[in-house]
Formats: sequence, C-alpha cells, structure tokens
Amino acid sequence: MEISTRNLEFKYHVNTPFERLALYDINVTIPPNSYTAIIGHTGSGKSTLLQHLNGLLQPTVGEVHIGDVTIKAGIKEKNLRPVRKKVGIVFQFPEHQLFEETVEKDICFGPLNFGTPLEKARKKAKKAAQQVGLSEDLMDKSPFELSGGQMRRVAIAGVLAMEPEVLVLDEPTAGLDPRGRMEIMEMFANLQREQKISVVLVTHSMEDASKYADHIIVMHKGTVYKKGTPKDIFSSPKELIELGLDVPESIRFQLKLEEKLQQSIGKVTLSIDE
Ligand code: ADP
Repeated sequence: MEISTRNLEFKYHVNTPFERLALYDINVTIPPNSYTAIIGHTGSGKSTLLQHLNGLLQPTVGEVHIGDVTIKAGIKEKNLRPVRKKVGIVFQFPEHQLFEETVEKDICFGPLNFGTPLEKARKKAKKAAQQVGLSEDLMDKSPFELSGGQMRRVAIAGVLAMEPEVLVLDEPTAGLDPRGRMEIMEMFANLQREQKISVVLVTHSMEDASKYADHIIVMHKGTVYKKGTPKDIFSSPKELIELGLDVPESIRFQLKLEEKLQQSIGKVTLSIDE
C-alpha cells in the first residue's frame, strides 16, 4: 500500500490565540514495501507528520492518500477506521500504554477491538509474540512483571497483531541498551523484508537511518528540506550538520572511502580507455 501527501499543511489550535503552523508544503510518497526514515531536529515536524500517516491528525490544508482512502479536513471518523487497521503506529515508549492483566490480553486488544473473534485474535497474538521474540510462557504473565525491553516487545506485538501493511515507528529504541536497540532494529528490518510491509522510522540516529532505510526524508522547520536515498542525503554531511543533526564520524568516514574508491575506479577506467 502506498501513502502520499499532497500540499499537506497542518496547524495546531486553528483559530485560537495558540494557533501554530507545524507543517506546510509537504509532498512525500511512502512506496509499498519500502523502508523510509524521517530525520530532523527536535521541533521540525516529524511527529506531526507521522500522525498524519494513519489519520490521527487530519490536514488543515491539502490531502493525505492512504491506499485508496483520501484524508482531508472534515473527514468523518468512521471513514478513518480502515486506515487505522492498515497503518500501525508504535509511539515512543509504547510500554506506557500496556494495561491488561496478561501479556496475551494486551496483544489481543487491537484485533478484538476491531471485531476479530477471540480464538482468531489469540492466534494473531501468538504469531505477533513470535515475531518480536517473546517466548510462549510469558503470555500468561502480567506485562508489569517483565523487563523494560520485554514490555516494549509486548507493546510492539500489540501493533503487529493487527497485521498492518505499514508500520510507523517513532523512536522505537529510545531508552534501550545497545544490544536491545540492535535486536529491535534487526527485527523491524526482517519484518519489512519478509512480511512485505512498509516501515516508516522516525529517528535521531543517523546510523539507523543510513543502515536500514532505502529512502530518507529530512524535515526542517515544518517542511521537507531534502529527500532521497541514504547516499543522496549523506553525501553532503556538512548540510546536515548545519541543520543541527548529529552525523557520526563513521558515516563521514564511509563517504570519504566511497569517494576515494570512485576516484580510483575513475582513474583505472581512464587509463584503460587511454
Ligand atoms: P518533532 O517531532 O520533529 O520534534 P513536532 O511535530 O513535535 O516536531 O513539532 C512541530 C511543531 O509543532 C513544533 O513547533 C512544536 O512546538 C509544535 N507542536 C507540536 N505539538 C503541538 C501541540 N500539541 N500544540 C501546539 N503546538 C505543537
């Protein structure tokens, strides 16, 4: 399923003294089966944009196309329901939203809420738990007995149990240790490849953006500053540094290496041609 925005503009608290333009002139496409990273300084509009990807927020001006549903100002809540099922959002610290008595009940909550019969919902929960690497013996435990990393996995499984076509992740590894971070990031990368879903990742980590995404959107002051492949984006790290983004030495080093390699290939080709 494809998601695209057309001239999307969004204001918080329209027609009040607190009115604030948070997004303007946003034209982006999230192709099917892709992995897109959204990067940008705090306050650049990343969270506001991602909440438009499943209709949680609706444009003040312009449109968002999610599959065959068009979202614009004034759309009725009931027309948004199919979209909510197809696009799953994992918010920051999603474990804060756990509330059921058992892990299984928490993971089943979404499918049950969308009318899936209990036995089928339990099957979906089992599959989702496997996908996030939770062992079966945890299903009857209280989510609050688990470690922070496991609670995060339960919350993610709750989103996966809805079998979304697009998975939107807002800093999904915030607060995890390096090993937990890597495991979760690898899990999403495998899901994207194997289940043929799209992933949209909002991240502060340039390493994750360059490692996992095939497409990057750079946000700045409420609009798209640049978009392209990781190579397009990171080929001018100076520009990103000027936007206040933290481009790690490893990426700068890798770019220099690639440049040198290209130069030497150029020279070899030149001498063969000569
Ligand atoms: P980011 O996710 O990149 O940090 P946000 O989308 O949260 O950026 O914020 C974009 C702009 O919208 C900022 O200027 C922010 O202050 C403003 N903003 C975000 N949420 C609200 C809100 N609930 N009410 C008013 N302004 C908001």
